[in-house]
Formats: sequence, structure tokens, C-alpha cells
Amino acid sequence: MSEVIRLLPDHIANQIAAGEVIQRPSSVVKELVENAIDAGATFVELVVKDAGKTLLQVIDNGGGMSEIDLRMSIERHATSKIQHADDLFALTTKGFRGEALASIAAISHLTIKSKQEESDLASELYVEGSKVIHQEECVGATGTCISVKNLFFNVPARRNFLKSDQVEFKHIVEEFTRIALSHGDVGFKLVHNDSIIHDLPAANMRKRIVDVFGKKFNDKLVPIEENTDIVKISGFVGKPEFAKKTRGEQYFFVNNRFFKHSYFNHAVTAAFDNLIPAKTHPSYFLFLEVDPHSIDVNVHPTKTEIKFEEEKYIYSILRSAVKLGLGKYNIAPTMDFNR
Ligand code: ADP
Ligand code: MG
Repeated sequence: MSEVIRLLPDHIANQIAAGEVIQRPSSVVKELVENAIDAGATFVELVVKDAGKTLLQVIDNGGGMSEIDLRMSIERHATSKIQHADDLFALTTKGFRGEALASIAAISHLTIKSKQEESDLASELYVEGSKVIHQEECVGATGTCISVKNLFFNVPARRNFLKSDQVEFKHIVEEFTRIALSHGDVGFKLVHNDSIIHDLPAANMRKRIVDVFGKKFNDKLVPIEENTDIVKISGFVGKPEFAKKTRGEQYFFVNNRFFKHSYFNHAVTAAFDNLIPAKTHPSYFLFLEVDPHSIDVNVHPTKTEIKFEEEKYIYSILRSAVKLGLGKYNIAPTMDFNR
């Protein structure tokens, strides 16, 4: 008997793909908030119930979607952000795969309400497990409101593997923080179980860091600035005396996208040289700007790893920029290292 090869029905393919992109409630937060930013929002509110297990809602005042685009938005590989293969090598948006909404739609009860400036009415779409239940016109403000309920309702294995509310909410706060830090000019609000966790007005970088991490950061930050043909660096490092035994606030962004990079982390730590005791970690908030053609963000759906063409060069510039910044502030070590 020969095996028969069949194409998987869309809803099953979507559910499989969803597992890649949406691992936990915080993955939904990342995708939805990034979409709001891509839509040009100047204010984004995130409302969470029970660490996202009951509700994740993102409300933005961005450009919104037409009735037709709203219906398209939950199709797999449907994106308004890239058109040509070449676009992949010069990304200016956060999203580009057209997978997030299709994935979320496959594994939740999803409501999307959206209105464009030029339309009189909003359109609301309701989907359960990729199945469109209804779409109708309604009254609404310009922008988009997406509500995700009962995440993983049809993927019990995934749902059962979720951690405690405390742990899941920590992941949500981390995603929220990464995006809030990389978009100081956008206002953000985070509400969990009816309490306001963050209310961040649009601000400059320094104020955003202080608003997110607390007033104590006001006196902790040393500005870093460097400009070459290959890379522009800006941001802050924490003063050496605030270095911690545990990895604290360590944030790299390239072209406003958060990334992790152990090699660049080494560059920053090396710049602190003998200013901090061994096995302690400085805080940093460093923004790199490079030609979008010189990085590859297409490595993994969760997109925190990024490949740089000029890795070695950036390492040395980063290290010297941080050294210079620390030197300018002429910070003498005030700690007793032998303690
Ligand atoms: P991607 O972001 O990779 O394009 P998504 O699945 O996240 O894929 O979104 C699909 C499409 O839906 C986007 O390309 C965009 O056109 C539209 N969209 C999603 N969220 C929003 C939003 N908040 N405001 C306006 N349009 C949106
Ligand atoms: Mg997206």
C-alpha cells in the first residue's frame, strides 16, 4: 500500500506555524505591540488579565485597516510590509512575515476592530481557531483594537505548559519594556488585572529609561555617543558603581529593534575594564544604527538574534565609545573591590 501525500488543511497548517511564533502570552504582546508601532501609532495601550491567559488586548491610534485588509490580515503570509524578496534585506518595519495574526487567530478567540481615518465606520472581525465567525460594521475610533481571549484554547498541551501567572507576566513586562525603550517617542500604558503597571508619556530616551526603571536611574546614566560611516551609537551605560552580580538591565537595539549579542555584550563589559569587579555586570541601553542591508534579522521567528556584516568593526567601535563615555565622566571607582 502506498502512502498518500496530502496538503494539510489551512487551519492545521496555521496551528502548526503558530507554535513557532506564539510560544506564550508574551509572544502575542510582542507581535501586537510591534504591529501597532508599524501602523504609526503614537499611543499604545496593553490591557492584560491573568498574565494573558484570560485576555490580552492592544489598543492603538495608528493608521488602522480597511474592511478588506482586516479580513486579509489573518491570512498566513499576508503582509502589507514587504513586496519583493529584496525588501527582506532592507527592513524598516518590525513585522514582515505576515504570520503573527494568522498564528494568533489559529489558537485563540480573536477580535479585531479597526478604522482608518477616512472611513466613517469601523469594522469588527471575530475569529475562533482560524474560523471567521462574523465581520460587521460598528462605531469606533481611528486605529486598531485587538483582543485575544482563551489563548491556546485548542492546544491543551501548550496551555498546560504555561508557567504561573507571575512568571508569564514577567515575560510580558520584558517584551513591553523592550518595545517601550526602543520607541521613546510613543506613549505606552500597561494595565494588569485593573492596576496600572506603567503609564509612559512620549519622552526622550533618558526620561523613558527613568520612567520605566524608576527615579534611581536618574543619577546612574552615562551618555554614550559615536558616529562612524558604518555605525551610529547612542544611549547610556550605568555608572560602574551600580554594576550588579546578576545581569541587570542590558539592552541592545539596532535600528530600534531589540537584540541579544554576547559578543557585543563582551565589548561593553570590556570597556568597563577594571572599573567594575570581576563577575559583575554593567547596565546598558545602547542604540545602534546601521544600514539595514548590513544586518540579517531573518534568522528566527522570535527575531532576537541578528547577524551583523561588520561585527568585528562594531565590536571595537562599541568598546571605544563606551570607554570614551566613561572617561569623559571621569568616574573614579568608588568601590572597595576587596570586600
Ligand atoms: P506582519 O506584521 O509581518 O506584516 P501580521 O500578521 O503581524 O504580519 O499582520 C498582518 C498585516 O495586518 C500587517 O501587514 C498589517 O497590514 C495589518 N495589521 C496588523 N496589525 C495592525 C494594526 N495594529 N494596525 C494596522 N494594521 C495592522
Ligand atoms: Mg506583525
